[in-house]
Amino acid sequence: MTTATGKTPVKKTAVEPKAADAPKGDGKTTCLVCGKPLVRGSKDGMGATCREHQGKIRKYARQAEVAPEGWIGMSVVCREFRDAGIPISKVVTAAGGDACTKPTLDPVFDVVYVGRRKYMHPEVLTKGMKLLSSSAKATSPAKAIKASALKS
Ligand SMILES: [Zn+2]
Repeated sequence: MTTATGKTPVKKTAVEPKAADAPKGDGKTTCLVCGKPLVRGSKDGMGATCREHQGKIRKYARQAEVAPEGWIGMSVVCREFRDAGIPISKVVTAAGGDACTKPTLDPVFDVVYVGRRKYMHPEVLTKGMKLLSSSAKATSPAKAIKASALKS
């Protein structure tokens, strides 16, 4: 049986994956620097952010064999801030960015790396939280960072 129009139904073909220079990330390959999964693949084993920050990575963080006494894992810190209604991105920015490539907002946000894990001073939950919650209302984070840079 033929259709009235004589058209053959257009069969939608699956979109062919675009050929990329970089091998496709399989979700299991992780960045050599930060350990995050490489979603888009990578030629040099590094994520785009880490490549961009190369040489600056962890510039403003310390490295230690073990976390200093009482220091808290970054994931715990982020959870506490989130529960307090402060976006995690603000904490990350205050702590010098994802890979500590920028100075911290305040020494209370200083980061210590133990391997790839980040640790923060316990006072970040009190003093640090106060700093971020007040700056959230009063000034933009950029202004707050500028002000703290002028102070020091
Ligand atoms: Zn990375």
